Amino acid sequence: MEGSREQVTGNTSMSPWDELPVRDELRGKSPYGAPQLDVPVRLNTNENPYPLPEPLVERIAERVREAARDLNRYPDRDVVELRTQLAKYLTDTSGHQVGLANVWAANGSNEVIQQLLQTFGGPGRTAIGFEPSYSMHALISRGTGTGWISGPRNEDFTIDVEAAVQAIASRKPDVVFITTPNNPTGNAVPRETVLALYEAAQAAKPSMVVVDEAYIEFSHGDSLLPLIEGRPNLVVSRTMSKAFGAAGLRLGYLAAHPAVVDAVQLVRLPYHLSAVTQATALAALEHTDTLLKYVEQLKSERDRLVDELRAAGYEVVESDANFVQFGRFEDSHIAWQKILDQGVLVRDNGIPGWLRVSAGTPDENDAFLDAVRELKKEQSA
Ligand SMILES: *Cc1c(COP(=O)(O)O)cnc(C)c1O
Repeated sequence: MEGSREQVTGNTSMSPWDELPVRDELRGKSPYGAPQLDVPVRLNTNENPYPLPEPLVERIAERVREAARDLNRYPDRDVVELRTQLAKYLTDTSGHQVGLANVWAANGSNEVIQQLLQTFGGPGRTAIGFEPSYSMHALISRGTGTGWISGPRNEDFTIDVEAAVQAIASRKPDVVFITTPNNPTGNAVPRETVLALYEAAQAAKPSMVVVDEAYIEFSHGDSLLPLIEGRPNLVVSRTMSKAFGAAGLRLGYLAAHPAVVDAVQLVRLPYHLSAVTQATALAALEHTDTLLKYVEQLKSERDRLVDELRAAGYEVVESDANFVQFGRFEDSHIAWQKILDQGVLVRDNGIPGWLRVSAGTPDENDAFLDAVRELKKEQSA
């Protein structure tokens, strides 16, 4: 799941619920939704194109069968076994030692973000993000009554550090979102930038800094997870939706100082993570090595997309994610339609001049590359 800009700003047309006494800030807004069309090649939602391997499917069935025997009981409210395994995964992949007390899990990182905003944001408080970025940060802010501040970015989609520090100093937000690698643009945020924004946020308030690493496994660089050491107001959020190829599972998690994990207990619903979800996620974590091999394949396909798009004469934003933002188009919606006419669905995030394509299987990527080469020919004809 990922976002598009149109939904951030919403619109002012009539909604079917306008007759209902909904909260003022929701009136006239649109719910999140990526349009899904029935076309042969769908490269618009940053999902992993590979279905889970059969041995993992078997293992999930086994663990879910075991869990089913106890479904008359509430699940482990504290999610101890799964958090322990997530901590092990983070330790193994980052080289930084994290334990059970540092990790919290929920139904997708969207729920993690919601719990963080319920805990540290809320009415009378604000959150800032640097846009274009993941539109759910703004939407969940609105849903939790948190005021949203749209921070600036440079023309090349990097974060303008000076302007960002300035915005934090003057607006004093309670929560700062940094998405790295960024969605929809794909570029990673340098460690020094994150440190500068963290310092600014501590000087201004102090406020919580949420580093959204939904795509970190696809990055050329390292996770910023080690930065949680000695920084109690820094949270790294992660998901099994992208690298683990398990968007349907709904499992997101965070790593932070144990006090942050304690604090979100105040807002999490009791037994929020079902026994079936916990069992499925544990099965997937047993197959981490296999799943990370698919990530390697997707990374090389992503790099191929970048190279071939450039060779075809397109501009491309450097990508550390499993998708690539490319342009520029005089009218990105017309370009989107022309690519769709050739049976390939990409994403128009409403960023003028640009479109985004998710890395698919080699065949899907070939179909996409054929379509954009065709488009280029047409444009220069
Ligand atoms: C996809 C995505 C998420 C993941 O959401 P889940 O709820 O875990 O599926 C979080 N952040 C960003 C930036 C994303 O693109």
